[in-house]
Amino acid sequence: MEESLYYCPICDKDTLHDLLGENNDNVSIQCTICHTKTVAEPENYHNYEEVSMEWDSEIKSILDSWEE
Ligand SMILES: [Zn+2]
Repeated sequence: MEESLYYCPICDKDTLHDLLGENNDNVSIQCTICHTKTVAEPENYHNYEEVSMEWDSEIKSILDSWEE
């Protein structure tokens, strides 16, 4: 099953979610930790990891600049 990072309000953090189903308007996903089912917008879901990775590299470059 396809798994991807998404924010889980129950766990209150980013967790792996199983993709249960998908159509043009929404994706239904399930937290692999607390098994809460959530409906997300496909755009948000598919871009989530990408966005947080960009954010990570931004933080990393800030940290890197501090080390100098
Ligand atoms: Zn959860």
